[in-house]
Amino acid sequence: MDFLPFTRPSIDEETIADVANVLRSGWITSGPKVQAFEAALSEYFGGRPVRVVNSGTGSLEIALRLIDIKPGDEVITTPLTWVATVNVIINTGGKPVLVDIDPATRNIDLDAVEAAITPNTRAIIPVDLAGLPVDRDRLYAIAAKYKLRVIEDAAQSQGSTWKGQKLGSFGDLCSISFHANKNMTTTEGGALVLNTPEEARQFEKWRLQGVTRFPDGTMDVDLPGGKFNLTDVAAAIGLGQLKKLDAFNARRKVLAKHYFDQIDRTLGLELPLWSDDSNWHMFQPLLPIDRMTISRGEFIARMKEKGIGVGVHYPALHLFTYFRGLGYKEGMYPHSERVGASTITLPLFPAMSEADVERVCTALVEVLRPALR
Ligand SMILES: *Cc1c(COP(=O)(O)O)cnc(C)c1O
Repeated sequence: MDFLPFTRPSIDEETIADVANVLRSGWITSGPKVQAFEAALSEYFGGRPVRVVNSGTGSLEIALRLIDIKPGDEVITTPLTWVATVNVIINTGGKPVLVDIDPATRNIDLDAVEAAITPNTRAIIPVDLAGLPVDRDRLYAIAAKYKLRVIEDAAQSQGSTWKGQKLGSFGDLCSISFHANKNMTTTEGGALVLNTPEEARQFEKWRLQGVTRFPDGTMDVDLPGGKFNLTDVAAAIGLGQLKKLDAFNARRKVLAKHYFDQIDRTLGLELPLWSDDSNWHMFQPLLPIDRMTISRGEFIARMKEKGIGVGVHYPALHLFTYFRGLGYKEGMYPHSERVGASTITLPLFPAMSEADVERVCTALVEVLRPALR
């Protein structure tokens, strides 16, 4: 039987043909396709300004530059995320302040956020893990009360909603990733949803070497920008993907629902919270580690032998070497540590069939049942 990876992008032939058109056009870096992609994204996000870059990490980094993070400024976020979220805070000179997750949602605990606010707090970076939205009402109530900026790390939640409203269509800065594994891709890429045309102009400077060009052909540089621009080749893929995003997400939801219906509840897996608001970026049960006679690594190897790819997203990041060097250690964020140590990402992508879900569920029984105490 074919190997079933935990994710796989769906790129249609029309998009592939359009990429070939761009390659033949003579203009392959940032140009008309990037402009068209930004316009289409802006429409998707309720008319707000959107600018694209070559990664979600770049988008977060520029967002932090836009809000003018200075040394000593504290930015509150979660240890249960892709390390990019915290690396960018450090790389822009800010001080990450980690607070634990709410074990029910596995997203940042907003009570803990409020408790961690100090006079030096400048911003919050919530992460919608696996596509499940952080409570936007409570988040923005806290931000308003303490006058904080919010950079939503919505890398995993393109198309997710909060009370029926698309994430990114409201709120403060909203950062998205178009990495190959995300719900829509440009191979690599990212975007930031902004508040004002002025913010968008500043973003453009940070995106490309700080340059402003004038109609008379002259230019000026008034800040030390980087090299973050997206190519027209990538933007052509993004235009094709964006048209399909809502359909992709609808299909993911059907498949996630099928997992809920099909998973053997006697195996002791802890299922994620069901949510109609999620784009179901990932389906992540927790293994019953305490009852298992094999490690997560062995479990993953045995699933692989059965032709099924299983991922881990993510170990709690404060236990990585670099962060231990900053003084973080075991026991500081117990919920994140427990989830990080037992989480598995099962296959979920739009081209999967219901039969694929059933195949995964059968393999789970075959691998886990004999490994339970
Ligand atoms: C993917 C991801 C990023 C980074 O996006 P890249 O496009 O890979 O740079 C940041 N945060 C989270 C939560 C992600 O999942």
